[in-house]
Amino acid sequence: MVTSFIFATNNQHKVDEIKSIVGEKFNIISLKEAGIDIDIPEPYFTLHENASEKSRVIHQLTHQNCFSEDTGLEVEALQGEPGVKSARYAGNEKDFNANIVKLLKNLAQHKNRNAQFRTVISLILHNKEYLFEGICKGTIIHELKGNAGFGYDPVFVPEGSHKTFAEMSMDEKNLFSHRKKAIQQLTAFLSQFGKNLS
Ligand code: IMP
Repeated sequence: MVTSFIFATNNQHKVDEIKSIVGEKFNIISLKEAGIDIDIPEPYFTLHENASEKSRVIHQLTHQNCFSEDTGLEVEALQGEPGVKSARYAGNEKDFNANIVKLLKNLAQHKNRNAQFRTVISLILHNKEYLFEGICKGTIIHELKGNAGFGYDPVFVPEGSHKTFAEMSMDEKNLFSHRKKAIQQLTAFLSQFGKNLS
C-alpha cells in the first residue's frame, strides 16, 4: 500500500512540484485535498522554526503523518535577505512581482549578484520530527525573464544554466531545484522505513 502524507501548504505550485518529484512512491495530499482551510502562521526568524511550526499545526489538527517546507531566497550582498521574509519581502500581500521589484532595487548598486534558495522540510512521522535541507546556488539577473514557476523564479539563474527558473519546464527546474534536493533526502529517508510505514 502507498503511504499517504499531508503536505502542509496552500501553495499549489509547491504541491505540483513535489508531486512531480515524488511520483507514485508516496501519496501526497495537499491541505486543499484534505479539506483543511487555514493560513498557517510563519512567525519565526529561521526557516527551520517556520517549517516545524507548520507541520506541528497540521499534525495537531489531523494526527496524521505530514510534512511542511519553508523556503527562502538568501542574497549574499543583502546579508542573506530576504531569507525567511521572502514571501512578505514587499508586504503582507505576498505579491511575487512587488517582491522582485524590491529585490532588484535593493541590489541595483551591488556587483555581487550571488544568491541561493534554501528549503527546509519538517517531517512528522509517527509523532517524531525529522528535518531535511536542500540548497540551490545561482545569481540574480537584472530584469525578469520567463513566465513559468512562481516567486523569484523570473530573476534567478541557477549555477550550471543560462536560463532563469521561469524559463524552464518543471522537469528542467527539478534538475537544479533546492526543493528537489530536500525532497530527495526525505524520500530516501522514507524508503529506509519501507514496509514499517503504515
Ligand atoms: P514559503 O516557503 O512559502 O514561505 O516561501 C517563501 C517565498 O519564497 C515564496 O512566497 C516565494 O516568493 C519564494 N519561493 C519559494 N520557493 C521558490 C521557488 O522555488 N522559486 C521562486 N521563489 C520561491
